[in-house]
Amino acid sequence: MTGAGGSGGRQPVHRCTACGRHDLVPFADLGEIPVYCGVHWASRAEALASPLGRMWLAYCPECGYVRNLAFDPAVLVYDTTMDTNLHHSPAFGVFSAELVKHLAGRFPLRGGTVLDVGCGQGEFLRELCHVAGCRGIGYDAMYAGPPGPDPSGATFHRGHAPLDDDTGEFDLVTSRHWFEHLDDPYSFLVRLRELAGDRPVYGYLEVPDAGYDLSTAGWEVIYPHVSYFDGYSLCRIVERAGWRVLATGRLFSGMFRYVEISVNAAPPVAGTELPGAELPGAELPGTELPGAELPDLADRDRQLGSIAGFAARHAAERERWRGTIDRLLAAGDRPVLWGAGSRGVQFLHLADPDRRLAAVVDVNPRKWGRYLPVTGHEVRDPATLAGSGTRSVIITNPAYRDEIDAALRQLGVHAELLVA
Ligand SMILES: [Zn+2]
Repeated sequence: MTGAGGSGGRQPVHRCTACGRHDLVPFADLGEIPVYCGVHWASRAEALASPLGRMWLAYCPECGYVRNLAFDPAVLVYDTTMDTNLHHSPAFGVFSAELVKHLAGRFPLRGGTVLDVGCGQGEFLRELCHVAGCRGIGYDAMYAGPPGPDPSGATFHRGHAPLDDDTGEFDLVTSRHWFEHLDDPYSFLVRLRELAGDRPVYGYLEVPDAGYDLSTAGWEVIYPHVSYFDGYSLCRIVERAGWRVLATGRLFSGMFRYVEISVNAAPPVAGTELPGAELPGAELPGTELPGAELPDLADRDRQLGSIAGFAARHAAERERWRGTIDRLLAAGDRPVLWGAGSRGVQFLHLADPDRRLAAVVDVNPRKWGRYLPVTGHEVRDPATLAGSGTRSVIITNPAYRDEIDAALRQLGVHAELLVA
């Protein structure tokens, strides 16, 4: 562990926002990393000049919550030039469609209203309105479509959700991959709880699983992610904000963590849980199946172990991949990275700052011909790999392994997939 002593600069006292019971303790200073890992620049010069921000991780010994102590909300402005959309990937599309079906079956939404905070380009909310027969209200500063009512039954707003008294009544609040971006996630949950008043309201939150991110190389430890929640700390923060935990669990190859919550509401129909759900009580109601219990102190201790090893593991992975790229180049290979999302950007910043990889490709056509922040790698169409002589394709997201493997075969590229 790198202690607070080596960090220099200011050392704010920061109370844990998840449990509120302990001050955060610094454990890993990753230095300066790209602020805008979801922006793809029109020129290499702009990309090279894009800002850096400091990542100084601290944890709560009481609940395992992790936060970037150096996060500065003023340097990170969300707008429509950002593209963090994952829907171009078939694997993510299938996952999202199954989630819509699940939510429509689990919660009484017909004729009701879903509030989606951080709705992206609205794909998920539109589909949920369609499948569940409900209305929707979507907010996102990155939403680039036409604001206002949509034929799906959803109404979209470009901007952050004000969550004020003009926010209409809602029966389910959803927020996918936004909660971890908030400077003050606790107040966000408290505000939603206040808006629910005495009405029955359910909630579904989905975040990157810190149990995964902090026990691996940490490519998803990126500047826009202020907070890192595993199951235990996520349950602690929602309960402290006045919500009841209905279920939690991991999804998408264990990389995402969800929690379903409620206030003033009857428990959902038994047997409608997501596979692998961890529930209050030992068994899945209405089934013969033993269910896992909600995360407990043993889970917290496992997470504290991951946190203790993180700084050394992160540094070792960075060096290992620099060495791997050296070796591949020396052997006459033309290694490439497939995937120019935030994980890819972080990987390139740490493992290939000098742009020695032969190419970076991505399935999202909006990224083609554009440049990645700080390192300035150009993103190309995967089709350009055909006939390029590439024998090694690096990926940073194991969830896309099968999809990328199939795409390579279709292109006639015989390459080994290396999972970073
Ligand atoms: Zn805590």
